[in-house]
Amino acid sequence: MTDLPIFERLPINEQTENDDKEIWQPSWHCFCCQDTGLIYRHLIELIIPDFDPNRDRIPVCQGCNKFDNYHLKEYGVLDLRFDLYICKKLDAIARDGWKRTTQQQFEKYKNQLDIATGAIALLSPLILQIYS
Ligand SMILES: [Zn+2]
Repeated sequence: MTDLPIFERLPINEQTENDDKEIWQPSWHCFCCQDTGLIYRHLIELIIPDFDPNRDRIPVCQGCNKFDNYHLKEYGVLDLRFDLYICKKLDAIARDGWKRTTQQQFEKYKNQLDIATGAIALLSPLILQIYS
């Protein structure tokens, strides 16, 4: 076996490459709260399995500074136990989930596109007949 070098992809069209990136990459920075400061419920439930949103304090993301209603703390409605360490863990889990979801969506989209392309290929001789 010879040692071959590993090259990065060299896309022909830089523009479309960047467009694709925007579609499949979310704009928020904190995946734990999607920059809202409020941790997503499915993530909360990983730590508080029987979390009841109607009765329990609201878990606040301590990983970023997006939550701006700290005055609510006085009313005892905030759960501030989700520290930076936990938020980073949840962030990693959410990132992974996001990656998998977009991958699935992409596969689905690609399949639909393949079906559509196949249908067009089948129909085009017909269409040509009609319009010629
Ligand atoms: Zn956050």
